[in-house]
Amino acid sequence: MHNKFLTNKKSKTCRDKYGKFLDEFNFESDAQDCANYMKRKFGRNLVPYLCEECGFWHLAPKCAVCGKAKRLYNSKKDAERQAAKVFATEGKYLRIYKSCGGWHLTESRGSKYYRQNRDVFMDALRKRF
Ligand SMILES: [Zn+2]
Ligand SMILES: [Zn+2]
Repeated sequence: MHNKFLTNKKSKTCRDKYGKFLDEFNFESDAQDCANYMKRKFGRNLVPYLCEECGFWHLAPKCAVCGKAKRLYNSKKDAERQAAKVFATEGKYLRIYKSCGGWHLTESRGSKYYRQNRDVFMDALRKRF
């Protein structure tokens, strides 16, 4: 079977903590496909996230605390920025919640959460874009 994931584009700007350039995806769905593949093939637990630096999607390890397919953000600000960025580029609303000694994001149906937290989103957008 042809494996498109072996020909992933590598980031020219973003590295992991070992200094290796990260895989780079244009769309969340591509990143998720690759994460699914890595899980099946290597048992690795990865989760897509939208990169602040380059605007592409990368894969990061799942939360080591709860094991959920979520990235753990150390600060609320980081989580808010990610939510704002995903909102700005995908039109998708993510809710921020405290967990695992940090912050997680979860998909929020509808725009109620966004309306209630409009200031947070707008503030994060202003600071980043
Ligand atoms: Zn990046
Ligand atoms: Zn967790």
